[in-house]
Amino acid sequence: MDDTRREIADGHVVCDGGRIAAVGEGPAPAVRDGAKRIDGRGKLATPGLVNCHHHLYQHATRGLAQQATLFEWLVALYPVWGHLDAATVDAAARAALAALARSGCATSTDHHYVFPRGEGDLLAVEIGAAARSTRSSTRAQMGYSSTSHSNKVACCASPRVACW
Ligand SMILES: [Zn+2]
Repeated sequence: MDDTRREIADGHVVCDGGRIAAVGEGPAPAVRDGAKRIDGRGKLATPGLVNCHHHLYQHATRGLAQQATLFEWLVALYPVWGHLDAATVDAAARAALAALARSGCATSTDHHYVFPRGEGDLLAVEIGAAARSTRSSTRAQMGYSSTSHSNKVACCASPRVACW
């Protein structure tokens, strides 16, 4: 789809410097030497999805109390969340962000509201997990060797989504 919302059945997307530089029909125009080409035939290139409501730490208890009502679920899980620590928040945030990326999500918000006494700054832990996940995802999927492209990037004619 281009900026006039016209769907392009057979086209190209050119990314340069972390931004979409061109979208159009047919094969991509000449690009600079060393540019990475991704064969997106048979694929759909679409903007990354945006998740407006998440609780990344809850990935640690995913699958628990699944048949419960909302209130039963909260009653079952608050005692568990009361024992959150930095290692759990870090692992849960990284796993949740990976799951989001695999589903096409390029941007997410998070509502972290459980801060057990004595566990330190769990919000900083979560932010650190997100920053590390973003850098490694960008390098792995876009082929970048530095961390300079670790800001929001979601592009290329493939089902790949780079980061948040
Ligand atoms: Zn919520």
